[in-house]
Amino acid sequence: MPQKYVIIGGNAAGMSTATRLRRLDETAEIMILEQGEHVSYASCGLPYHLSDTVPEENLAVMGVEQLSGAFDLDIRTGVTATGIDPDAHTVSITDANGKSMTIAYDDLVVATGAEPLVPPMFDLDELEHCHTLRTVSDATDIREEVADAERALVIGGGYIGLEVAENLHEAGHDVIVAELLDQVMPNTLGPEMAAMVESHLREQGIDLRLATGVDDLTEPGDGTVVATMDDTDHTFDLVVVATGVTPRTELAESAGVELHDSGAIAVDERMRTSVESIHAVGDAAAPPAVRADGNAWVPLGGPANRMGRVAANDIAGHDDQLDPVLDTAIAKVFDLDVGTVGDTAATLDERGQAFEAIYTSQPITPSTIPARPRSNSNSSLIPTTGRSLVPRPSARTVSTSELTCWRRPSPTTTPSSTFGITTWRTRRRTRPPRIRSTCWG
Ligand SMILES: Cc1cc2nc3c(=O)[nH]c(=O)nc-3n(C[C@H](O)[C@H](O)[C@H](O)COP(=O)(O)OP(=O)(O)OC[C@H]3O[C@@H](n4cnc5c(N)ncnc54)[C@H](O)[C@@H]3O)c2cc1C
Repeated sequence: MPQKYVIIGGNAAGMSTATRLRRLDETAEIMILEQGEHVSYASCGLPYHLSDTVPEENLAVMGVEQLSGAFDLDIRTGVTATGIDPDAHTVSITDANGKSMTIAYDDLVVATGAEPLVPPMFDLDELEHCHTLRTVSDATDIREEVADAERALVIGGGYIGLEVAENLHEAGHDVIVAELLDQVMPNTLGPEMAAMVESHLREQGIDLRLATGVDDLTEPGDGTVVATMDDTDHTFDLVVVATGVTPRTELAESAGVELHDSGAIAVDERMRTSVESIHAVGDAAAPPAVRADGNAWVPLGGPANRMGRVAANDIAGHDDQLDPVLDTAIAKVFDLDVGTVGDTAATLDERGQAFEAIYTSQPITPSTIPARPRSNSNSSLIPTTGRSLVPRPSARTVSTSELTCWRRPSPTTTPSSTFGITTWRTRRRTRPPRIRSTCWG
């Protein structure tokens, strides 16, 4: 009898699992249940569709027919999984016509991803010109409004918010970014590195409002949106809410699957959940990690694809394990490439870990080349007690703008210079934990 594998969710993690399973098992029945109309779409390209830098036809990596044909997959779009019975090994589904049925599985993979986390005071269902960005349909909906809009508000200064801001700016909009905290990319960068990104955004013409909460969004009915910020009403044509994401795990939770503190599904290094014959992968899952004590939730495409491959290997009986995730992320912000790996000052502070911070700034372009000056600024955080599991956790910003845009991090530090590389070192004692923003960074 061929094995029957059912995968809930047809984007990065679900499709990686499906295609790897097919390579390992030619006879298996592999069914993918996807509630949306697209599978295997390039989420990273969605912000770039707003400026048409990435046209709609390039958003889906492969279409349903192409994938089904190439990998002999039974892909069902417009189908929502509504329940899992782990004892009976069945999934309840509802199709696009509202018809319900039950599907049996030998192994089930939960790849339900994440969804935008919208502050409760915003009722986006009632607001025509206010959007979140998660799916291809979200991107095409926003793109349809772009031509008629001039003033845009982006709520949230994490990496998705900044990519949206850049692309709306490229599309000719006046863009305000409102970030509740006092820095951009709060989950990715320390304040010193964030300061570089902030000045670069302002240089590019983004009206960046830090420490600014949006209290209310209303639509008066004339095609505009009124946003209340700092007790003042501002009028926009378009609003994008990018205030973070949350793992989509209700289905797994109702089947008795254990969750991690983050709310994502706790999985081991083989992507096994606490329930037999159920694996979980991608943004829905929290795998073992280097940086935290135990598992960590890192909702990014790289880990999602790797988790899919490991789950498929395990299901097909091949020995494989996920290397603990390091939490590596890179984003483009206009002319800056902003990257990080391992702990940030905020996560070390949260854990009460004392550390030493080393800041360096060095020219990338040799002085003999008469090109535009380029610099590379780097912040490395070295724990001063205990063991560092990531040898050089760092937040790195490679700047194509002038070295002078880099700021000295703290008046208490002393610079030294060797071979044109300027270095500042500073010792940080632990300070009380601060609450992390829900904004994505
Ligand atoms: C705008 C944007 C930009 C991004 N840029 C980057 C980037 O530059 N680099 C990077 O590494 N990551 C990026 N990411 C994150 C990356 O897209 C995610 O980490 C990745 O998509 C996770 O894949 P996934 O399959 O786990 O989850 P998802 O992509 O969320 O897919 C889950 C799928 O499951 C389906 N589903 C959910 N519940 C059900 C159900 N009950 N029944 C049927 N189907 C269901 C959903 O419709 C969805 O299609 C970005 C994300 C966004 C939104």
